[in-house]
Amino acid sequence: MEIYLTWISEHLLAVIATGITAVLVYHYLIEKETGAKLSKRYRNSIFEAQSKIFLNATQYLISGNKDLAIKEFLSAVDINRETIETYFALGGLFRSNGEIEKAISIHRSLIARENISEAHRLRALKELALDFDKGGFVDKAIETYKDVLKINRDQFEVIGALCRIYEDTEDWDQAYNYRIMLSKVGHQNQAETISHILVQKAKQYFERGEFKKCEEDLEDAFRFAPSVSAKILRLKLYLFSGDIEQAKFLLLEILKEHPMYASFIFVSIAEDFNSSNADVKKSYLNRLELVKKYFLEMNDKDLISSASVVLSKVRLLKESGMIENAFELLAEWMGQNKNSSEVMKVEYIKLLIELNKKDEALVQTKSLLENLHQTLAKHYCRQCGYNSDSIFWRCPQCHEWETIQFRWKV
Ligand SMILES: [Zn+2]
Repeated sequence: MEIYLTWISEHLLAVIATGITAVLVYHYLIEKETGAKLSKRYRNSIFEAQSKIFLNATQYLISGNKDLAIKEFLSAVDINRETIETYFALGGLFRSNGEIEKAISIHRSLIARENISEAHRLRALKELALDFDKGGFVDKAIETYKDVLKINRDQFEVIGALCRIYEDTEDWDQAYNYRIMLSKVGHQNQAETISHILVQKAKQYFERGEFKKCEEDLEDAFRFAPSVSAKILRLKLYLFSGDIEQAKFLLLEILKEHPMYASFIFVSIAEDFNSSNADVKKSYLNRLELVKKYFLEMNDKDLISSASVVLSKVRLLKESGMIENAFELLAEWMGQNKNSSEVMKVEYIKLLIELNKKDEALVQTKSLLENLHQTLAKHYCRQCGYNSDSIFWRCPQCHEWETIQFRWKV
């Protein structure tokens, strides 16, 4: 079965072409029965020519020659302008071959026809939207996808395409609207994704200093799902409003749930926001220091056994110049975890050098170099394998949400 499916996907175009040939044969036979007005000789010659063209095209497709196949199909269109499937096949071929202009003109001519069914017109409109989308004409793609929805709202792929476009362009209001629409026509639960989108919206308000609106969107986000990104933004809001106890409590909760996010949380909450008020900014940073202090003093058994948490602590200590403390903490952890990762060893060697412990640094470096693996990106997507050094809530490659996985990087 699997081999069969692979063959189909490799020869999809050939299969389609064969299908069209079959349709033509069928029409020929029907017309023969009902006695079309054309003379028999003329009909036969058309049929022969068409069959030849489609057989040629099929062969070109099987041998992987798309350009010649398109040429053959084009001649078929000249012979019988009423064969609508030929137009669709041709339009699809042009698009997959990157000849977007030609695909667009074929689909436009179909839409403009008076004598086609509404179902065909809708299909042509969808194809046209795909052409614009693939060609990178974003505005026209949006407009055409919306035209399709005006005719028929129950179009999962079309709504999905609009979601993707609005998320790409970071138009979070529209991304939200269409994601809600998608959750109504599809069977997949969209709550997590909707939560992420609302957090993105709320973040924009936070950056602009519109905290009231930020709060509202964030509350909505939690109503859909308590995603990590929502919790981190809430932490920022607590710091802003001065709810230190709540902030500490929430930090502990996030760390227990997702210890691998430890470093990222502190990078994220230390990011600047556009407050024109210097006092507001100053008190925010003061509160941030309090929370950092709380984190450094955290002694929870589960947490201090996590490499990620220890590494975040070491980095925070280094930032504030407490090299000795950083070294003590890491040395203790290394003593208990003999098979620690390369990133921990490198951090350890850096501290040894800072503290001028040359001999020990040499020994550690030697053992590290002997076992060093290839350096990779910090993060990757569990869905498609996309690599990146920055944090992504939505994978830029496959557009899935929260598929990020962490990798230790030297
Ligand atoms: Zn991905």
